[in-house]
Amino acid sequence: MGAEIFSVGTELLLGQIVDTNAVFLAQQLSNLGVDCFHKTTVGDNQGRLVAALRTALVRADIIISTGGLGPTEDDLTAAGVAEALGVELYLDEPAAEAIRQLIAKRGYPFLPSHLKQAQIPVGSIVLPNPVGTAPGFWIEKDGKTIISMPGPPHEMRAMFTESVAPRLQQRAGGVVIVSRVLHFMGIGESMLEERLKDLIEAQTNPTIAPLAGMGEVRLRITAKILGREAAQALIAPVEAEIRQRVGDYIVSTDNEPLEVSVDRLLKARGLTLAVAESCTGGLIANKLTNIPGASEYFMAGLVTYSNEAKIKLLGVQEATLAQYGAVSAQTATEMARGARNAGAAQIGVSTTGIAGPTGATAEKPVGLVYIAVSSDQQEVCEEFRFRGDREMIKNQAANAALNLLRKTIEQAS
Ligand code: ATP
Ligand code: MG
Repeated sequence: MGAEIFSVGTELLLGQIVDTNAVFLAQQLSNLGVDCFHKTTVGDNQGRLVAALRTALVRADIIISTGGLGPTEDDLTAAGVAEALGVELYLDEPAAEAIRQLIAKRGYPFLPSHLKQAQIPVGSIVLPNPVGTAPGFWIEKDGKTIISMPGPPHEMRAMFTESVAPRLQQRAGGVVIVSRVLHFMGIGESMLEERLKDLIEAQTNPTIAPLAGMGEVRLRITAKILGREAAQALIAPVEAEIRQRVGDYIVSTDNEPLEVSVDRLLKARGLTLAVAESCTGGLIANKLTNIPGASEYFMAGLVTYSNEAKIKLLGVQEATLAQYGAVSAQTATEMARGARNAGAAQIGVSTTGIAGPTGATAEKPVGLVYIAVSSDQQEVCEEFRFRGDREMIKNQAANAALNLLRKTIEQAS
């Protein structure tokens, strides 16, 4: 038996918020080597909450709940847990004092309802909330454990990391599940499987699983064993073999966004960058400038949507646009060169394409995108044909541009 993730909140059932807490907890449990076999979502209703807890108590050893620990009437989790386990609630004085102090510090008026958050099922260990008012609790009864944390994701994550993970780790006896994720671009899922067929078929520990995503394929290598180092040792030779065969297509690891590796490369090489975007509408500039310290290399980003802007701001030749069109390798290359000049940068990158759903012609379908990189040493341009809706095409194009940047800079060394 294992754990059950238990999300409380009517807004989850109405589809008003996405259950990111459950995603986070599932990942964390897996990292800690705790098997998770069920996820439950229940609204803010005491009867259904208690019934769902009772069901979960039959099939799981550990129930980890989030939500419903706040001060309002519809926050019912502590009362629900107490009822399901057949214990009373009590006012935890240290928790009440922590709430009084936090409210005073924040300068809010103190309301009696605030103390509701210090109502804890008898027999619990109180889990402090390092970033909010509502504490969580950990209660064990009849061989079962219920862990309740507040709903706001940043509070839940802080509490999980500080108080819950160490206790779970201790209980897992050191067995861990460690995953390494390799991200591929420029190779399809089937081709990747084909090249790794024997490895995938022979797998037991670690397991290898391909996952197709938007414009990329991911490969997850997962080991379950006693000790993190032993897990790494199981994964390393498999990863090395995969890199040997298809390493050219690996663009990042462990969900690191591409812009992070581009950022790192540009900083390490002391290079400066300017961006000229048409179909990506500023997405590349946005991704890069989300990273602190981007000002070290990011000189300028121009969103040149019209032909006039391409001519005026980037110096694209009218003749180029007339002869080849705005969506062409020639225009993309002149845009990248123009960005470099306009931004006084060492490297320019550009995108031009048809994000759809309108704007396609017989020769230029939706999803056709040209991406160019220009430096004083070289100019490269690649043609892409992306699938999906407008937003998906923009995203894939931005990622492809970041990848082309990465490849060009790496090869230049
Ligand atoms: P509060 O003290 O803020 O009332 P709470 O523990 O009572 O906290 P809820 O009232 O259930 O928690 O949820 C508070 C907010 O936390 C929600 O409006 C939502 O924004 C976020 N939240 C709750 N549950 C989840 C979840 N499972 N995934 C992501 N966000 C969540
Ligand atoms: Mg609430």
